[in-house]
Amino acid sequence: MNTRNLRFRSNRVRDIVSLFHEELDSMYGSGEVGVFLDMLFEAFLGWDKVRLLTSKEQTIDQSDLLRFHWALEDLKQHRPIQHIIGYSDFCGCHIKVSPDVLIPRPETEEIVNWVITHLSSINIHHCLDLCTGSGCIPIALKKAFPTAEVTAVDISPAALEIALENAKNNGADIRFMQTDVLNGVDGLSGSYGLIVSNPPYVMEKERAQMQRNVLDYDPALALFVPDDDPLRFYKAIANIAKEHLTEDGLLVVEINEALAEETSALLKFYGFLPKVYTDFRGKARWISATR
Ligand code: GLN
Repeated sequence: MNTRNLRFRSNRVRDIVSLFHEELDSMYGSGEVGVFLDMLFEAFLGWDKVRLLTSKEQTIDQSDLLRFHWALEDLKQHRPIQHIIGYSDFCGCHIKVSPDVLIPRPETEEIVNWVITHLSSINIHHCLDLCTGSGCIPIALKKAFPTAEVTAVDISPAALEIALENAKNNGADIRFMQTDVLNGVDGLSGSYGLIVSNPPYVMEKERAQMQRNVLDYDPALALFVPDDDPLRFYKAIANIAKEHLTEDGLLVVEINEALAEETSALLKFYGFLPKVYTDFRGKARWISATR
């Protein structure tokens, strides 16, 4: 394929940037397309934002141009940028992603940052993450609390394979276990000062309001719960926390903003003192609970 077939006017950076904006701004908005371009130039060429800004007249190799061509086609099909480049940044950690794991969300990053700030003065010895997916949460926790023993659980062997690789690549020593949280977790060792979870919480009836990039590319297993039992994971998590959270420990769960009151009431029912927190978008997004 040469540039003529590729629709780019030339191999010049300026022309690549222009074509991306021409073809994608109406779908994503110009600001977001700018973010995609930053991420693609970083992933494909190792360029930072400043290099991109100051290299508009430079030309790139044909093989690299081809990668931009396919990235553009993929973005038109709503393929998430993280799947195109193969990774996501989470709390400063490089996290590999695939269709087997939920792409880490900025809301979750906000929660983990809150946990890290909130607990920095307290000595955390054991942390547990339930429904770990890519492993982004336990990896960020292990980085923040290097002396803590961190355990992470997921039902999906394919997700755990990615989580394990991510832990290795980030130099984070984490104990992974493959278990369905809904059936309780056997083999947990003692008590945890911190139990966290971002379990599936999207109700089937909410599908209609969801974006194609989520519906077509994120694993349904990590997202959906039945309409008639949307808090099933929180019941299981509360049962595990009742048994395994230390007396002064903290339970932190990401929640569905439409179910903040119900989730709070459920945790109270299980004997916890919950507090709801709002994320940077102004939505009720997590609950932190003590005994
Ligand atoms: N916040 C995610 C979304 O909007 C859902 C995460 C989850 O179900 N745990 O797609």
